[in-house]
Amino acid sequence: MNHTHQIAIDKVRNSKLDSTDFENLTFGKTFTDHMLECTWKDGSWSTVEIKPYGPIMVEPSCKVFHYGQAIFEGMKAFKDENDDVFLFRPEDNWIRFNASAKRLAMPEVPEDVFMDGLKELVNLDRDWVRHGDGLSLYLRPFMIASENGVAAAPATEYKFMIVMSPARSYYRGDVRVVIATEYSRAADGGIGYAKAAGNYAASFYPNSLAIQEGYQQIIWTDAATHEYLEEAGTMNIFVRIGDKLLTAPHNDRILNGVTRRSIIQIAKDMGIDVEERRVSINEINEAAKNGELKELFGSGTAAVVVPIKGYKHHDYTFELPELENSYSNQFKKALVDIQYNRAPDQHGWRVKI
Ligand SMILES: *Cc1c(COP(=O)(O)O)cnc(C)c1O
Repeated sequence: MNHTHQIAIDKVRNSKLDSTDFENLTFGKTFTDHMLECTWKDGSWSTVEIKPYGPIMVEPSCKVFHYGQAIFEGMKAFKDENDDVFLFRPEDNWIRFNASAKRLAMPEVPEDVFMDGLKELVNLDRDWVRHGDGLSLYLRPFMIASENGVAAAPATEYKFMIVMSPARSYYRGDVRVVIATEYSRAADGGIGYAKAAGNYAASFYPNSLAIQEGYQQIIWTDAATHEYLEEAGTMNIFVRIGDKLLTAPHNDRILNGVTRRSIIQIAKDMGIDVEERRVSINEINEAAKNGELKELFGSGTAAVVVPIKGYKHHDYTFELPELENSYSNQFKKALVDIQYNRAPDQHGWRVKI
């Protein structure tokens, strides 16, 4: 790794740690003492700055507000019983971040800025990573167009930043979903595969309609026909039919999730038959009707695995069976055991800070 970028560290005088209630954390509301900031201008990256978490100054004409060049990543740091801190497959997030950057005509972030900066920041705030079941530090690298001016063109200045938020997993209640038959999240040739802020903006309204109907999430189908499964809200989706595990292949409409990829590997390690292919809603409805549909679940960094209890597709509704030893529970346990250094890391996924 090239250490060409210097890191300048300005530490807080008074830590917020003692006044933080780790028992009552609302996801994404509490931030650690420090953040990272690095600016791209005239083709090069500035010194990486690590400084107290706080507001940034931008003008109203700042391009991100007008043309939406904004991308992000979501990852976590975990602490084991010996107070060692680990990241999970962070290279994958860096690679995906730059794939998103490229699609939105933003500069790619060099590995040393992203990875060394991230490790330095996590290390500085390592007391914010708590051990204990479900506790982690949620890491949010992001980049915005920071040039001023309302001309519709890619910006000539960008800010890459990382903020971090202590997180506790909790049971969010049963999740039932509506399968989309009208709206879509992404289309061929679009930005569905990028972790672009605008993808989320576009999903909030259709999702709110599902909530109005008494459901918690929307399941995205392909924009062209609405006949094939794509994603579960802001997560990837898995289906278990009989003993087979199915998931949509990733393409330019589907986000290539790190959790998805890890679950596919874990399932294969367990000897489960996995197919990455287009899965039609018709196939799911048929499997539901003949008793073969065993599980539906979403996967993503924030919640790891979210089992889906029931779904609605047009007028058809179905309740998933209660399983003793579900795949989703087994995958979740296997994955978090690796993340918290409670199980051997066969695939080299953990990175110690
Ligand atoms: C982030 C994200 C996922 C999950 O990706 P992970 O790397 O597993 O966290 C899935 N779908 C969408 C749309 C996402 O934004």
